[in-house]
Amino acid sequence: MARPRTYKTEALVLKGSPFGEADRLLTLYTLDRGKLRAVAKGVRRATSKLAGHLEPLTCSLLLLAEGRNLDVVAQAETKESFKALRDSLEALARAMYMAELVDAFAPEEVPNPGLYRLLLANLRWLSARAIALDESLEAALLRRFELRLLDLLGYRPELHRCVECSGPVTSAASFFNPRAGGVICVACRSRWSAGLLTVSPNALRLLRSLQSAEPRASPLITSASLREEVEGLLRHYIRYLLERDVHSIDFMDLLKREASPVEA
Ligand SMILES: [Zn+2]
Repeated sequence: MARPRTYKTEALVLKGSPFGEADRLLTLYTLDRGKLRAVAKGVRRATSKLAGHLEPLTCSLLLLAEGRNLDVVAQAETKESFKALRDSLEALARAMYMAELVDAFAPEEVPNPGLYRLLLANLRWLSARAIALDESLEAALLRRFELRLLDLLGYRPELHRCVECSGPVTSAASFFNPRAGGVICVACRSRWSAGLLTVSPNALRLLRSLQSAEPRASPLITSASLREEVEGLLRHYIRYLLERDVHSIDFMDLLKREASPVEA
């Protein structure tokens, strides 16, 4: 029998689930091949040398052998383990959310190096600040991640011109239409009876600056009500695009509720 063809790639492990007796089915996001599913054989045995290099949210250098249906991990070596993420449930929850979004949106085997770098940079950032996550900084990070991801996958929301009439949206009140992927001006609003979200002037300004900001120049979101509004709007848009809920949101919300002081 001919030897299977092999290839090397750098990958972020998005998730893993038990497969067969001792194997694990991995979802990988690779630098040069996009999203892939591969089998890691025997990694659920205590003696496995591969297991430690294939944990979810690890960046590893892999050697894969092409299989008939699924490729098989032949060798793995950790490049970055983001160890600090495992020490903070909050940071871990955010990282899992980012990985889930990439998994949910990315088509299989379509390379998107920009998306790979976006996830890698954000895992590094979260890992470096895992212990001290400031709410306003963290909200900016997550919203910017969502906007960049949408951008890289062709779902960039239009935030400047009305998606109905192409007129500039400058008024104090505007609306967001998930179906049309952008803002709607007051004049066009009457044509839509349902499915529109109101966007406050501050939220629109913030979304625009997050959409255009350099990573290091992202504005902080210090107002709790503004954080909630922008988060709600992007969640709504993402849920509309995916046609399903993002499961890791529940875990993030649970931790947030537990961390907030009990109201008297
Ligand atoms: Zn309009």
